[in-house]
Amino acid sequence: MTTTSNGDAQPTKQSAQQAAKQAAQQPTQQPTLTTYRVLVIGGGNAGLSVAGRLQRAGIPDITVIEPRVNHVYQPMLSHVAGGTAKASQATRPQADVMPTGVTLLRDAVASVDPETSSLVLESGRRVGYEHLIVCPGIVQDWDAIPGLRAALQSPRVASSYEIRLADKTSHLLRDLRDGTAVFVQAPEPASFAGAIQKPMYLACDYWRARGVLDRIRVVLVLPDATPLGVPEIDAELERKVAEYGIEVRRESRLSEVIADSSTAVIGKATVGTTADVEGESERIHYDALVVEPPQRAPAWIAEAGLAAAAPLTDSEAGFVDVDGRTLQHRRYPNVWSLGDAAVSGSQRSGGALRKQTKALAENLVGVLGGKGARSEYDGYTVAPFTVSRSSVVFAEFDADGQQRPSIPFWKGLARERRLTWVFDRRVLPWVYWNLILKGRA
Ligand SMILES: Cc1cc2nc3c(=O)[nH]c(=O)nc-3n(C[C@H](O)[C@H](O)[C@H](O)COP(=O)(O)OP(=O)(O)OC[C@H]3O[C@@H](n4cnc5c(N)ncnc54)[C@H](O)[C@@H]3O)c2cc1C
Repeated sequence: MTTTSNGDAQPTKQSAQQAAKQAAQQPTQQPTLTTYRVLVIGGGNAGLSVAGRLQRAGIPDITVIEPRVNHVYQPMLSHVAGGTAKASQATRPQADVMPTGVTLLRDAVASVDPETSSLVLESGRRVGYEHLIVCPGIVQDWDAIPGLRAALQSPRVASSYEIRLADKTSHLLRDLRDGTAVFVQAPEPASFAGAIQKPMYLACDYWRARGVLDRIRVVLVLPDATPLGVPEIDAELERKVAEYGIEVRRESRLSEVIADSSTAVIGKATVGTTADVEGESERIHYDALVVEPPQRAPAWIAEAGLAAAAPLTDSEAGFVDVDGRTLQHRRYPNVWSLGDAAVSGSQRSGGALRKQTKALAENLVGVLGGKGARSEYDGYTVAPFTVSRSSVVFAEFDADGQQRPSIPFWKGLARERRLTWVFDRRVLPWVYWNLILKGRA
């Protein structure tokens, strides 16, 4: 046997006996690991943007590990589900969206050992790193609600959280002329939890234009008391909820789906746990059920010891335990994280990532240059809510739920506007594909 630089074993003609004799005569040698300067787990929004920024800052040898063949621009899935974009507009081949000079390693991470700065890929290969950026996103847990996964096979149940299901949602909502449509928002942790409201408002506007809205009972199931948790934005969203005549089940959750009888069981959520308040559930017969799945951290993060030992909230449990300002791991200084997989303190969204990628890239460049991590992410996030087929409520806020307008002192962008629709539907996708993913914005 000979050992290649990447640790892979190659067979030779030597017999096992000869090899064993030889090995006994030589001092024990560990196979040489391929060690990457900067290794990024996940080629999604976070991974590509931060890799692009680092590459532009002159850091050589950046490799992104990503198993998917196609990259998905997730905010566009709301438009796909709501009938204002085609599925093909939400996706591009992964190889085509890689920032120039950044290497794509088509594989997936199976486990990480931060003590030896190495990881094992699903292909079985083990590699090393000098710095690791962990951004594999969040896991959609379709099995967490009894009956949900099976119900997705039925024609009346869909979601906007996967591209195939978003396409199914658009047909389901477009063809509905009467009956009951139920939209379910997941509790935290979630990737832009409120995103499920977007296809709901788009569908309501469409049904109103077709003259059928008053024949459709629309029910929104919210995990919290309000749609977002930022008072000024909530006021605007509640106004649209009232305008469309949407019934809201607050502090509630989907407990079960019985596809055979098209029944959604809605439980009253027990604050601070995932359990229902006993005896307080409602059965709703649906003609369309659009579900945001429960979400959780990838299990290997906690298995690697990268999560907090004593998380304070569900939103932190199992996610990468970084300092929310510097995005550097609290115990392993050569491990970094951002995006949906990190505990950054802010709501998980692509909007938050623009500022996170900048802070993380500057800090990593600082550490590599011996100057340390001095840049800070300030908790800013932006969440555009499409509230009709021509208007958006542009929610900008910080980790404390305070409005944070990007045009100083002007909170007016948070009102329903056509201008922000043009930005969300037309400008932002172009910016995403051409600037954000290249680390230029
Ligand atoms: C339906 C929907 C609508 C949304 N709408 C908005 C919006 O309007 N505005 C907004 O700001 N945000 C929105 N978001 C949130 C936004 O898309 C996410 O916050 C953002 O994509 C997070 O980026 P990320 O890189 O952390 O995760 P992702 O973009 O999900 O990327 C993670 C990548 O890691 C890869 N990966 C996973 N496991 C492994 C592994 N073991 N090894 C290697 N690679 C792995 C995955 O294949 C994936 O490509 C929306 C999200 C969804 C789902």
